[in-house]
Amino acid sequence: MKKRLVQVLGLLGICVLVSCNAGTQRLAKQEAQAKNIILLIGDGMGVAQLSTAYYYGNQTPNFSRFPFIGLHENAPVGAKITDSAAGATAFSIGEKSYNGAIGVDQDTLPKETILEWASKQGKRTGIISTCTITHATPASFYAHVKSRNLHEDIAADFTLSNVDFAAGGGYQYFLNREDGQNLFMELEGKGVITDTTAVSRDLEQGHRYAFLLGATDLPKVQEGRGDFLPQTTEVALDFLSQGDEGFFLMVEGSQIDWGGHDNDADYIINEVLDFDRAVGAALDFAAKDGNTLVIVTADHETGGFSLSAPLIFGQTDYQHVRPTFSTGGHSASLIPVLAYGPGAEEFAGIYQNHEIYGKMMQAFQVSK
Ligand code: MG
Ligand code: ZN
Repeated sequence: MKKRLVQVLGLLGICVLVSCNAGTQRLAKQEAQAKNIILLIGDGMGVAQLSTAYYYGNQTPNFSRFPFIGLHENAPVGAKITDSAAGATAFSIGEKSYNGAIGVDQDTLPKETILEWASKQGKRTGIISTCTITHATPASFYAHVKSRNLHEDIAADFTLSNVDFAAGGGYQYFLNREDGQNLFMELEGKGVITDTTAVSRDLEQGHRYAFLLGATDLPKVQEGRGDFLPQTTEVALDFLSQGDEGFFLMVEGSQIDWGGHDNDADYIINEVLDFDRAVGAALDFAAKDGNTLVIVTADHETGGFSLSAPLIFGQTDYQHVRPTFSTGGHSASLIPVLAYGPGAEEFAGIYQNHEIYGKMMQAFQVSK
């Protein structure tokens, strides 16, 4: 009798333990919900480019603030090495596509992007880049065209999109078009305030904004871009976070890639340090907010860049670091992924680039 009671009590204990444990797991799942996602893409930023922030910066890089690190494989459909269009499209639609594809699958069919999905849910959306807003990386989040070269078609898609906050370059594709259309007039007709002079800090709720500060690309950091990227990231976060339903913001450090193509280490270093400041702005926001997932990654590596020991009279000199390049194009290296906030643990490990989409969607959707 006593023995049976003990057994029953024991079973009860196990049940309590099990249900208690299930409760904790449910709680843990709830805590992994992201109301907001900030995706920061350092175009062409492999591990060596990221490492420059550690060798050439004056302080501990913001990259060090991320608790979860992974790597992604990035080959596109039909090639071993990806371009920025296929790379960003994998993130935005969750499928691998071909080099040149902008928001379309491998059969050139348009696919809803995570930005468009977020917009449909009532979330606000933003796009910031240091090249033209119609360039491959930003375009892949709001446009659907079969080739990255179709800048005017991409600008037309931007006009049709619901992006709430956009900043970058490229107004010529809106104002100086072969079809003679003035897309700024169309944007303004839809309540989008356009500005080609500066990113205003004074934004009114109830409007959408497009700051296109150059006819084409913005200048390099070395040529006077200033704090555009970190400051605009702050302005966008302040604006987008005032909606009730959360937001999706993509921020691109576009020109890390161009430093790689130019085999210009100083160009890379300056652009990476600038990008890291934007990452810091995103993390500061997320730390305060508590409901924001921040992901830092790249589409691919550019330049076959490495931080090598120089050869001096046939001897390797381990006292110095010398940046070297092995190509003027992209390379096939796996690419780092850094994650912070609700759902961040899902980004640990090695996976395909398009799985980043699924991990972001998972972080978003469990909040519903
Ligand atoms: Mg890019
Ligand atoms: Zn490139």
